[in-house]
Amino acid sequence: MNQAIALESQTIAGWGMAVGGASQVVAPTSKEGLAAALAYAADHGLRVALRGSGCSYGDAACGTGKLVIDLAQFHQILDFSPQTGILRGEAGVTLRQVWQTAVAAGFWPPVVSGTMAPTLGGAASMNIHGKNAYAVGPIGEHIQALEVMTPGGQLLEVSRQQRPDLFHAIIGGAGELGLITRVDLKLKPIYSGKLNVHATSAPNFGALLDRFVQALPSSDYAVAWLDAFATGRALGRGLIHTARQLAQGEDPDAKNTLQVQQQELPLHLMGVFPKAAMWRLMKPFAHPAGMRLINWAKYQSGRWLEDGKDYQQSHGAFHFLLDYVPNWKWIYRPHGLVQHQSFVPDDRVREVFPAILALCHKHGMPSWLAVLKRHRPDPFLLSHGLDGWSLAQDFPVTPRNREALWEMCHQMDELVMNAGGKVYFAKDATVRPASVLQAFGAEKLLQFKALRDELDPNGLLATDLYDRALAPAIALAQAADCQAK
Ligand SMILES: Cc1cc2nc3c(=O)[nH]c(=O)nc-3n(C[C@H](O)[C@H](O)[C@H](O)COP(=O)(O)OP(=O)(O)OC[C@H]3O[C@@H](n4cnc5c(N)ncnc54)[C@H](O)[C@@H]3O)c2cc1C
Repeated sequence: MNQAIALESQTIAGWGMAVGGASQVVAPTSKEGLAAALAYAADHGLRVALRGSGCSYGDAACGTGKLVIDLAQFHQILDFSPQTGILRGEAGVTLRQVWQTAVAAGFWPPVVSGTMAPTLGGAASMNIHGKNAYAVGPIGEHIQALEVMTPGGQLLEVSRQQRPDLFHAIIGGAGELGLITRVDLKLKPIYSGKLNVHATSAPNFGALLDRFVQALPSSDYAVAWLDAFATGRALGRGLIHTARQLAQGEDPDAKNTLQVQQQELPLHLMGVFPKAAMWRLMKPFAHPAGMRLINWAKYQSGRWLEDGKDYQQSHGAFHFLLDYVPNWKWIYRPHGLVQHQSFVPDDRVREVFPAILALCHKHGMPSWLAVLKRHRPDPFLLSHGLDGWSLAQDFPVTPRNREALWEMCHQMDELVMNAGGKVYFAKDATVRPASVLQAFGAEKLLQFKALRDELDPNGLLATDLYDRALAPAIALAQAADCQAK
């Protein structure tokens, strides 16, 4: 225990449990406490990593050998207007708190991730996207203003009107420019607690993409699951789920379906089996043959039982599928998992994603869980958004495959970046600096550096991801810039 601030030694890992290390952790409860933590780090030569709920798969919220500032104690919803749908929350407010506050008034977060655990600060810092990214962009497009504490302890208000350069860089800035202390988010109106869902199966990647594209104009949300174990003519086969919001007056039972308890995920399977124990049932399948079987069974059941079907689902059940089985990631224990999410322009997707799936087969490491989404470009500085598609793939890590897996991820990055694609820091554990440079370009990285020099001249903020990938990419950009001059 330190005299000035309450420090705790902890191992801080990424959500995927495959990267991270020993850190000093502090969880302040006031802005004064935050400023004191920053001052303590500066005085003791410690660098600082910011952390929300720690849902980033890789090392984006890790601070090995550093001071990790945990912002989870900033969990007050400061204001919510049922007239405008604008919610003002401290940085540690979670997406779960946001929808629980707003749903009965007929509002839902404009963008949510596959889990409701992320904080507003973490969501803004990574500029998260949802299954509606193609229609409404990432969460940053719905943020009206931020309050930010600089590493020097000064409070700034940033928005599209006030320091728009900072607004567009801090959103998606991976916690390297300042500490977000407050987020003003505009929620979207909903007129029912249910969504109309449509399920479609597709026997290969070409058909999957065609059916996905066809469904987009009439859908508010769209996502596809791929059986990454399928090969040959079945490569990229999968199931598409699209959803449409109900219009005003369409749900005669809206008052009831909009109640919080209607959106909560059930704690028991079929009313009996506790879901908290379900990961234990899945664990015996946590090897390539078991996952091949599970992916095959999921595809076949979707094809035979669900194809072409319409049904209704609560917003919570549709969006937070990954919260359905608590702690499912524990099937990847003890060495964890990494996720690789490739973002590829629309005009290259039919070539690059099949090549990526085939590459994983060539390496003998097909993904255990693969998910496809459609995206659109956005105005944020280090954005992963583009007019294209993303393919997120989970891979188990073992001491034996670790080196080969990292190498395979680098090869996927080459395919992605050579096609004009992007990397998404929230998911990343493996990208190399040269790929980051290729993804964002020297000009944007140098703009980011200029803002960092202004807000954090002593370079106090530095997650493990920053040291591994972003800082060396900025150095490469500087070298390229010097050479060009
Ligand atoms: C099961 C699962 C499903 C997911 N699905 C999606 C998805 O569909 N779409 C998607 O986009 N993402 C998805 N994610 C990723 C997740 O949404 C992001 O990683 C998000 O940033 C996590 O928020 P967090 O509060 O946990 O932040 P953390 O992971 O703790 O931190 C994220 C980043 O924000 C920084 N940071 C945290 N708080 C602050 C703050 N107050 N001020 C400044 N910087 C801060 C950290 O330094 C770090 O760089 C998923 C993650 C999981 C585990």
